[in-house]
Amino acid sequence: MINEQRPRILIVYTGGTIGMIEDAETHSLRPFDFSHLIDNVPKIQKLDFDIENIQFNPPIDSANMSPKHWTDIAMAIEARYDDFDGFVILHGTDTMAFTASALSFMLENLHKPVIITGSQLPIGEVRTDGEENLITALQVAAARTPQGDSMVQEVAILFENYLWRGNRSTKMSADNFNAFKSNNYPALAKIGLDIHFNTDALYRVPTKRPLKVRYNLDTNVIYLHLFPGITEKTLSHVLNTPDVKGIVLKTYGAGNAPSEQWLIDLLSDAVERGIVILNVTQCVNGGVNSNLYETGNTLAHAGVVSGHDITSEAAITKMMYLFGLGLPPESVKKYLAYSLCGEMTI
Ligand code: ASP
Repeated sequence: MINEQRPRILIVYTGGTIGMIEDAETHSLRPFDFSHLIDNVPKIQKLDFDIENIQFNPPIDSANMSPKHWTDIAMAIEARYDDFDGFVILHGTDTMAFTASALSFMLENLHKPVIITGSQLPIGEVRTDGEENLITALQVAAARTPQGDSMVQEVAILFENYLWRGNRSTKMSADNFNAFKSNNYPALAKIGLDIHFNTDALYRVPTKRPLKVRYNLDTNVIYLHLFPGITEKTLSHVLNTPDVKGIVLKTYGAGNAPSEQWLIDLLSDAVERGIVILNVTQCVNGGVNSNLYETGNTLAHAGVVSGHDITSEAAITKMMYLFGLGLPPESVKKYLAYSLCGEMTI
């Protein structure tokens, strides 16, 4: 059935540069309210859409984003899921990839668009990228297939010339207008004169079930970034962090770590104590292939799980989500090895 109605889109404004203004005293940028933002985009009236909005009170710099805020966004979506065709989240760029990843796991069975965008320059600036990003995000959220279904049925990041899968994205630049990239997955759409959707790349839930939102996130997780010279004492300290349940181990290249015995022993000991360790590469492109080198193979033997080509943002939020479900370490390991919503290539 083709939906002839005007698209109904809910904008959730969380903050970020897009809505910031310069503080008169400090000259630093700080988040400002939604009416200021929307007043700067009069063109929005030209879209034949029904648009409503809600905002974080107060709006925040995304450096202050936390799982509590992800819960607030997810609640806003769940409460209005049936009333809107799509959702546009306005968000700072700094932690946008974490929010996109977290929401992709929290919003189980999502089959409507959740498009996250922001900007590098505030919307009030003459050369702002915010106006274009906001308008394109609204158009992407309203886009339909020839059959009348939502074109995008997942959490995605819209920035400048591309639409990326949220849980595949990383912030790549602090000043380029094309600030995001998904290094291991093609763009969901290219934005030029027209919006060209890459329909083969779009995610589709295998079976259409009602939206189920998982609000519980367990934050007893950490990153451990390997570097030449890391000491036994440091590693032991990190692996014995009180209450830690999951560790995203950021390894070299195809998932390699030093083969020193003390390192392997410390990792094996942590795994035996029930800590889940996920191997994620420090490289921006490519993934873990534990069988390629002996140095990677040893990690697999120590019980470290391969994260394949998952981003570190998706890795840590996936752990929060899985532990938040109350699963025991063995089940968490099992699900880490699966792609739950398109976050990894297996
Ligand atoms: N610090 C800002 C934020 O993440 C940066 C931005 O929005 O681009 O909220």
